[in-house]
Amino acid sequence: MAIFITSDCIQCGACEPECPNNAIYEQGATWRWADGTTLQAVANTDGEVELALLPHAPLSEIDFYIVPGKCTECVGFHEEPQCAVVCPVDCCVDDPDHRETRELLLARKEQLHAAA
Ligand code: SF4
Ligand code: SF4
Repeated sequence: MAIFITSDCIQCGACEPECPNNAIYEQGATWRWADGTTLQAVANTDGEVELALLPHAPLSEIDFYIVPGKCTECVGFHEEPQCAVVCPVDCCVDDPDHRETRELLLARKEQLHAAA
């Protein structure tokens, strides 16, 4: 994860349809690995395999949020993070605590959108 949404979010919804990985969700909405990806199963944090269609609890009840494991900083699709490009209040920002290499982000993109 290198992009996150700050509390300056005004919930305008402009970013959500721009994400090539469907990594952005409205506040209070459940999220799924399968949304906008070709994933059918993933290993969870306990090392167990779970269905990608399994719904997960919202990461925020207040602002739009980004699922870290689905964000690729738009690598492989666009030159810049599209959420940051369209956000009218510049609240999609780099997270200095979560730096990832381009190679890792590209590998994630390939994993999220593997050919069936
Ligand atoms: S940087 Fe790109 S992949 Fe990450 S949340 Fe924003 S639009 Fe989605
Ligand atoms: S574009 Fe910016 S202000 Fe609008 S919902 Fe997304 S993060 Fe929030």
